[in-house]
Amino acid sequence: MSNIRALGLVSGGLDSTLAVKLMLDQGIEVIGVNFNTGFCISDTRRQVRRRKDQQANLRHEALRAGSDLNFPVEIVDVSQEYLRIVTNPRWGYGKNANPCVDCRIMMLRHAWALMPQFDAKFVFTGEVIGQRPMTQHRFTMRQIEKQSGMDGLLLRPLSALRLPETQPEKIGWVDRNKLKGITGRSRKPQLALAVEFGLTDFPQPAGGCCFLTDPAFGRKFFDYLQHIPKGYQVTLEDFVILKVGRHLRLQSGLKMVVGRDEAENNFLESYLQGRWALRAKDVVGPVALLDGGANPEELHEAACILARYSDGRDFPVVAVQCQKSGREKILSVVPLTAEVTSRMLII
Ligand code: SF4
Repeated sequence: MSNIRALGLVSGGLDSTLAVKLMLDQGIEVIGVNFNTGFCISDTRRQVRRRKDQQANLRHEALRAGSDLNFPVEIVDVSQEYLRIVTNPRWGYGKNANPCVDCRIMMLRHAWALMPQFDAKFVFTGEVIGQRPMTQHRFTMRQIEKQSGMDGLLLRPLSALRLPETQPEKIGWVDRNKLKGITGRSRKPQLALAVEFGLTDFPQPAGGCCFLTDPAFGRKFFDYLQHIPKGYQVTLEDFVILKVGRHLRLQSGLKMVVGRDEAENNFLESYLQGRWALRAKDVVGPVALLDGGANPEELHEAACILARYSDGRDFPVVAVQCQKSGREKILSVVPLTAEVTSRMLII
């Protein structure tokens, strides 16, 4: 069974790593594929925290899994296409802003299209029946397979014994007897398999890897969608900013983002173009961005909020520097109270 090559969707989490191991142990040559949707939590942490959290674990898990098990990993950027999916998913959202069914279909379609390039005979994933509410129901898994065009050529090695036989098994590229029949939400079977395979280094599943499943991000995401002007084309940058800072709506509905720490302040400094940047002048405080063409009242209100989050929050007056495209204003404002500010928070 040598020289049979397969593409594996690899996140670097335990399930996809185990699926790879099951394939490698059968002599299948594995090419890992990892999709960058633009909503990966660890990717953003690497961008935002790289100076502050040098000790933090910010590695790329798919590449780490490839290195540990000695198989190549291709990173495929689908972030532009994903914008369309995440803002208008055909199959709807999960519990938060996660369009998981559309997302899986898109990833599998890409994998399908990549098969000739890598001379791959089939595609496999680390999915487990019943483990995730939205995408890993038996019925949904079947729908995803059909919608992606992968009918019969998509193998789920961890749950294969509970699923119909696939082409790779029927043809004999893969020995069905060496596949697993894991189902359900318990992680115990996978952890036992990890012990059996001697795998010790993998991310904890509870941490999550996708911003879209995070309730706080979901609130900011849907708030953003509700406020998009008609005809406006969303960009990746719009969503990048949703991943950092405190987000508030002024009374007029204008959006303001306030950095929560030095790393976020530094990150926001890269997104000043076309926005007002507010900073406390004589006391330590965050950087804040204010959307679009704020009028004088809105700028004043934003400065009061900024002052609230500065070290001058208990001062009678704080000087706030407001800059946009070479213009500068210094406003002396009274910091808002915590109570008023909290009512404006989206999160
Ligand atoms: S959690 Fe859902 S939306 Fe996020 S990457 Fe996974 S399948 Fe896609």
